Amino acid sequence: MNTITDNPFEFSHDNKRYHTYNYYLRSRFGKKVMKIPLNVDLGCPNRDGTKGIGGCKFCSAYLSGEFAGDPCDDIRTQFESVRARMNEKWSEGLYIPYFQAGSNTYAPVERLREMYETALSVENCAGLSIATRADCISEENAALLGEIAQKTYLTVELGLQTVHDETALAMNRCHTFADFLKGYELLRKNGVNVCVHIINGLPHETHDMMLETARQLSRLDLHSIKIHLLHVLKDTELAQMYSRGEFETLSMREYVDTVCDQIELLPKELIIQRVTGDGARNELIAPLWSLKKFCVMNEIDKELGRRNSYQGIKFAG
Ligand code: SF4
Repeated sequence: MNTITDNPFEFSHDNKRYHTYNYYLRSRFGKKVMKIPLNVDLGCPNRDGTKGIGGCKFCSAYLSGEFAGDPCDDIRTQFESVRARMNEKWSEGLYIPYFQAGSNTYAPVERLREMYETALSVENCAGLSIATRADCISEENAALLGEIAQKTYLTVELGLQTVHDETALAMNRCHTFADFLKGYELLRKNGVNVCVHIINGLPHETHDMMLETARQLSRLDLHSIKIHLLHVLKDTELAQMYSRGEFETLSMREYVDTVCDQIELLPKELIIQRVTGDGARNELIAPLWSLKKFCVMNEIDKELGRRNSYQGIKFAG
């Protein structure tokens, strides 16, 4: 129930004017639910030459899994060690094992089945999340994911980053919007929830281009979205471009305005899992203001309040 009288947004019980993942999970499970990031090191086809070499220019050596467990440990050991860290903050709740680093459908189906079943067997498990590339979704693994989706709360997270192929090409994504749509459709055909990741602030993307990404995604049948800020991380190709002055990162003001504009375009039911990312403090080169994650989130809340706006107010249907 909405207890903030001046907040018109229906999927909120606080000052949030967008459909947060926390609100969704609490409404669905009735208690705190924690995602436990894991790293099984299946690699990535954009690094091993299958799709490309060198990976996406913004991707760190951790394959976008800076906070995941240690890949040298088995799944249960990783789960226990990350859970122990989380339990320092929240003493109890349910857990969603989250295969985060790399492309977690990039292996033979029997290996995937074993991984996913091991993760689902942990105590107090509420479901499973799996991050991957859309071009690592096949008929075969989509059928396996569909089977798991029948039994538990499963979400497959697809990294898209942008609908603009020219940006994806410049970032060496080796992956187009059409590739994303193909993977998305295979998953939906099998009844699997899809979460999409996007990045704001990619080199040479304008404000209008970022809004267009939100607009095109607003027409799909997505379960959730993660909105990230471009982080320039050490030892990446992006860091070299940045040091050569080839692009500038967004200011906090620009980022907040962009995210609020995107939130207005997205359908109100769509769950927004993130409105900014966590950059690994020791790895981050720019923008350093992003380390103040709660400040960024507060600014987004304040801006939506100032506009008296909320998620979906400009959704075109
Ligand atoms: S597809 Fe993901 S894991 Fe692979 S290089 Fe790109 S960001 Fe890194």
